[in-house]
Amino acid sequence: MAILYGKELSDQIREEIRQEIQHYPEPPGLAVILIGEDPASQVYVRNKKKACEEVGIASYSYSLPSDIPEDNLLSIIQHLNGNQNVHGILVQLPLPEHIRESRVIEAISWLKDVDGFHPYNVARLFSANPGLVPCTPLGVMGLLERNSIPIAGRHAVIVGSSYIVGKPLSLLLLNKGATVTVCHKYTKELAYVTREGDILISAVGKSGLITRDMVKPGAVVIDIGISFKEGKTVGDVDFDNVLDKVSYITPVPGGVGPLTVTMLLKNTLTAYKLQVSAQPSAFSQINREG
Ligand code: NAP
Repeated sequence: MAILYGKELSDQIREEIRQEIQHYPEPPGLAVILIGEDPASQVYVRNKKKACEEVGIASYSYSLPSDIPEDNLLSIIQHLNGNQNVHGILVQLPLPEHIRESRVIEAISWLKDVDGFHPYNVARLFSANPGLVPCTPLGVMGLLERNSIPIAGRHAVIVGSSYIVGKPLSLLLLNKGATVTVCHKYTKELAYVTREGDILISAVGKSGLITRDMVKPGAVVIDIGISFKEGKTVGDVDFDNVLDKVSYITPVPGGVGPLTVTMLLKNTLTAYKLQVSAQPSAFSQINREG
């Protein structure tokens, strides 16, 4: 059994990004838009800004009031779409209720869509020719591939079907030859399905959801879920009781988490290459990770 700590891989990929950026005449730029004052979102944005600085990406922060009209936000995005110093645009989710998420996502140029949520990038992933891919799924693929964990021919069971995590991850795994089953809250007999997983991935946010009896012996278990229990950050998987039954497992915290921001940096670099150097290899580099 091996524990997959994301931090080491994350540091390695960040160093690769930092070194690559040193060879570019100007820094890639990432604009991060935060609407409102949600404390968790403020922490995420601060972490992203710090990570950018560490690898040499210029970050531009926009802190907007929670009552900003939707049209004003769309105008700011349009302005950033045309700003040549900005290669990636990220709007921190969730948004206030009066702003339609789909309008915001679709307003971002697909070339600057470092979250990988734009319909064009989603379509590219669907057609097995990925463009910019959502960061957490990309991080999971990095964790599997850089640890030489086989994917083709294996049954991957994903619990959680959001457009941010479960769905894009299902396509990435399918594109790599896995047989994929996606579960959600209406899935009946969840344990029966999860026990089939050679690779079992949980992305729900419900502690204790995946218990020992739900895991196939020798499975690779990737825990993306985050929730809080007795003041601690925990995942979906009953880690301590599952540990001796699996071949690989990610802890929470310290597993997939560190890779999510790293893949945002990687996506910003890819977006930069697509825009500035017009490097056609930029997308094939994503394929390598995803
Ligand atoms: P989400 O949009 O709330 O999606 C949760 C998914 O879980 C939905 O598909 C939901 O089904 C499904 N679900 C809910 N209860 C279930 C149950 N009892 N059995 C089976 N499926 C169930 O959340 P998300 O954005 O995908 O994030 C999922 C988790 O990953 C959260 O804890 C989040 O904090 C964490 N996360 C971590 C990272 C990281 O970097 N480590 C990044 C992103 C997210 P329905 O579709 O039927 O509602």
